[in-house]
Amino acid sequence: MSEQNSQEPTARTGELRASITDLQQQTQRLQRVLEISQGLTSTLELESLLQQILEAATELTETEAASIILYDERAGDMHFVASTGRNSQELERQNIRVPVEGSIAGTVYKTRRPMVIEKAQADPRHYSQVDQKIDFKTRSILGAPLLFKERAIGVVEVLNKCSNEPFSEEDIQMLSTLAAHAAVAIENARLVIALQKAYQKLNEMDKVKSDFIAIASHELRTPLGLILGYAAMLKDEAGETADEKLGVVLNSALRLRGIIEEMVNLRHIDTGTELELSNFDVRELVGTVCNDCESLAATKGQIINRKLPTAAITVHADWSKVALALTNLLTNAIKFTSNNGVIEVAIQLRDKELWVSVTDNGPGIPAKDLERIFERFYQVEHHMTRKHGGMGLGLSIARGMVELHHGRIWAESKLGQGSRFTFVLPMSEAAPVPGKV
Ligand code: ADP
Repeated sequence: MSEQNSQEPTARTGELRASITDLQQQTQRLQRVLEISQGLTSTLELESLLQQILEAATELTETEAASIILYDERAGDMHFVASTGRNSQELERQNIRVPVEGSIAGTVYKTRRPMVIEKAQADPRHYSQVDQKIDFKTRSILGAPLLFKERAIGVVEVLNKCSNEPFSEEDIQMLSTLAAHAAVAIENARLVIALQKAYQKLNEMDKVKSDFIAIASHELRTPLGLILGYAAMLKDEAGETADEKLGVVLNSALRLRGIIEEMVNLRHIDTGTELELSNFDVRELVGTVCNDCESLAATKGQIINRKLPTAAITVHADWSKVALALTNLLTNAIKFTSNNGVIEVAIQLRDKELWVSVTDNGPGIPAKDLERIFERFYQVEHHMTRKHGGMGLGLSIARGMVELHHGRIWAESKLGQGSRFTFVLPMSEAAPVPGKV
């Protein structure tokens, strides 16, 4: 009796110790899974990411080798993208493909469930060609699906338990947990790669477009110069009947020149243009631009009101670029406002900033387009139904000119009532105090 009593607590203590050790080991493995998962989310470089996953998989399941086999949608089969173990690089180098039908990897992929094969050589689904090609002998396999949002993207397999024991329930759980994290990490890395490719393509296309603009505008300029020159000369020499027709030729050629100039200006923004800075009174610049546009406005019976301060506002800026921005806003106001409309150009000094605005009582712009009209080639009206000419470049050029001065530009509008375009330029330190020049 007494013997029995003395043995029982010892046996129980032993059991308890064993389960504590078990628990400690399990906690350590879970901790390791957690560490690995955190590492996976911070790596976006696919190759090193896959290698990390495999190292973790062999470590946690105590196996000899591991592979990641992804499904290839285009080819409809599976291929090795990463592996560990002797001669493993051969798998990727030889681009060894595994069929979905009849293979172990394919079965795990299709059923989307983990699978244990204890005697691989005896299983008809074992794809022995792989072993032959890399001189490896697979004894046992544990495979887990890589699932991303319920969709299988591939399989992770670990091979040959080092102790030659069967795979445990814990091994299956470990590999499945790791596979779940790995699938998200792989998809993220794939998305980043796809995004990088898209950016690269976009940059290439942008370069093609810029080159095209440069060549086209250069090639168009010379013959157009000749047309303009001869048309003007003939108009001077021609009698009354030809005068009107030559006027049409001349005006059309001038319009073409305007378009080419827009293309050239756009290119200058792209390739980075230098500012030619000088000190000037903005009232003079507004006066010049308004005078230049007055005859155009007069053809539509429109009035351009100028709201200028009595004192000079001296800025240190690039005259021609600021003038171009204002000209584009003003010609738009004239173009889109109907006959007999009223346009106002105003300048103001506000908190060390120059505010320039062009207001019209034209058709207005829908709220959803107020940002987008500053994008290249964006026009509110569809080009097939447009009443007005233009390529949709004027505002993007104006924005480019303003941003070169570290300024900002925007539009406000009420449909049916009119629009106001404003640009603001910081008053440079170099500019003398207003009114002193
Ligand atoms: P374009 O005038 O050549 O079409 P812009 O870049 O100058 O190109 O203008 C883009 C679009 O913004 C115009 O097509 C027009 O739809 C709209 N827009 C610009 N200015 C006005 C305005 N003052 N009133 C109404 N719509 C305007």
